[in-house]
Amino acid sequence: MIKEITAKTLLSSAKRPDPWFGIKYTLNLYRGCQHRCIYCDSRSACYRIENFDGDVLVKANAIELLRAELPRKRVRGTVGTGSMNDPYMPLEATVGLTRRALAVIAEHRFPVHVITKSDLVLRDADLLAEIGRVYAAVSFTVTAADDALSKQVEPGAPPTSRRFAALAALAARGLYTGVTMMPILPFIEDNAENIAGIVAQAAAAGARYILPAYGMTLRDRQRATYYEQLDRRFPGLRQKYEVRFGDRYSAAADHASQLERLCADLCQRHGIPLRMTHYAPETEKQLTLF
Ligand code: SF4
Repeated sequence: MIKEITAKTLLSSAKRPDPWFGIKYTLNLYRGCQHRCIYCDSRSACYRIENFDGDVLVKANAIELLRAELPRKRVRGTVGTGSMNDPYMPLEATVGLTRRALAVIAEHRFPVHVITKSDLVLRDADLLAEIGRVYAAVSFTVTAADDALSKQVEPGAPPTSRRFAALAALAARGLYTGVTMMPILPFIEDNAENIAGIVAQAAAAGARYILPAYGMTLRDRQRATYYEQLDRRFPGLRQKYEVRFGDRYSAAADHASQLERLCADLCQRHGIPLRMTHYAPETEKQLTLF
């Protein structure tokens, strides 16, 4: 069910940008996510999102809050969206909060990093290009090279081929775009064929970076949902997880170091870095000089 809520605040700030994604201000316009990825960590109890798979809460006053909060930020840092929910889940097509938030970000000349699994992001290519004069990055999360497997593990999201088509379209417009290849699920996605398939498609689409992570995290109700989904979709795998990982939080991929080497070799061959370039205020200063 979709419900409207009134939020007290909107942006949460980190002391300094995180080393992977370069995000300083986290923006969540929704609570809950329609993409229903079987591994999603946002289900964990610590985030206090009850009924994650049932309700999506829309922060009805989000744009008002953003208009008030953004100009008060003394440090211009990257606004990131896509960690706790997908800013381009299906309801965004009608609600339009992400688009309106991007317009506010463009107006205040803040940098942005959007992380998504949806080609709906193409709708906002105009605003992203405008923000890109300061800094804009769009990362597509891809964990499965193959559409059928992506539909198994990310049932509510557009399949892998649509994500890569969207990445190619943004790259063709000159936008800074790449792949977050995480999580790579143990016993399901941690094989050379899958990793090589993702890298090959990323290279063909024009990805400017790939950020990989081999393995996943498992805790409380996120683990419970994941195990239920394994029973439904991959019979027998839950037992393998229980034996291998027990109660551990961190579940590393099988042969993680070999996969890491394979990915590094392939990326080097295609000239794709395994790090992304973050917003740097100096770049912006240089840009405004011309
Ligand atoms: S798209 Fe992201 S936030 Fe949404 S269910 Fe999947 S992992 Fe969770």
